[in-house]
Amino acid sequence: MAAWGERLAGVRGVLLDISGVLYDGGEGGGAAIAGSVEAVARLKRSRLKVRFCTNESQKSRADLVGLLRRLGFDVSEGEVTAPAPAACLILKQRGLRPHLLVHDGVRSEFDQIDTSNPNCVVIADAGEGFSYQNMNKAFQVLMELENPVLFSLGKGRYYKETSGLMLDVGPYMKALEYACGIEAEVVGKPSPEFFKSALQEMGVEAHEAIMIGDDIVGDVGGAQRYGMRALQVRTGKFSSTMGPQEPPPPATSSLPRRWCLLSSLSCLPVPPPACPPGCLRRQPDLPCTSPASTPRCLRDQAEGRAGSAAAQLALP
Ligand SMILES: [Mg+2]
Repeated sequence: MAAWGERLAGVRGVLLDISGVLYDGGEGGGAAIAGSVEAVARLKRSRLKVRFCTNESQKSRADLVGLLRRLGFDVSEGEVTAPAPAACLILKQRGLRPHLLVHDGVRSEFDQIDTSNPNCVVIADAGEGFSYQNMNKAFQVLMELENPVLFSLGKGRYYKETSGLMLDVGPYMKALEYACGIEAEVVGKPSPEFFKSALQEMGVEAHEAIMIGDDIVGDVGGAQRYGMRALQVRTGKFSSTMGPQEPPPPATSSLPRRWCLLSSLSCLPVPPPACPPGCLRRQPDLPCTSPASTPRCLRDQAEGRAGSAAAQLALP
């Protein structure tokens, strides 16, 4: 078992998935996953840059951040990369007018988008909105277009809420692809463009970043294909489908060959914060040994050791 310093040498930024890593959605907004509020706070105090990278498409970014803040997380709208704002940017750049098959909770994100006389379809996790009538309307819009364009906000198969597993947008996207004989453009994880924009916002290169998520395909596989490192947590959908002691699924063409597992975000070993002014430590992965180090420095090292002891990293 490699130490944090070896396994994650050179990591400068962390992308955190939200659903299944920070919280499980559900009745009353859902519940924070044990220890995740404190883990995010520890990460933010460290020298690592932190950004949130989600495929959430039932809520606007503002509503999602409001919910997370009520659950105790220190997060702001500007720190979240989400698919609906990214889709709006693409629609504007390409002059497209969408027919929206989306949840009412995310519709406000499209307020500035012209939806008259649609020339494409945007599908998101519409929840109860995935009726036959609504799916058929999206199908009809696509079939009437000379060049049908379908955008899917993510393509997850399912996710976990406090009441159980829920179908995500992916199965409905596949149904429209099959019916229309087209391939959707995915806006969200695992799209390389989505990771690229999140990393640009964070100011970190792919090889300097790690993605932490509960989805082996969207989070881990997507991040690795973009050149990032990745950790899969055993919370969220992982804990519902595989059990905490089960090995990871066998590798297939859509899965990464190697990845790390972590019991939960709370087990993430977090490096100490940057040294205060006056400390002579120059290499961030080395312990502070300078005689000029301050008591603050020593406390930071202690925090780093505690994190390492709690780590449960393993390679399949
Ligand atoms: Mg997730």
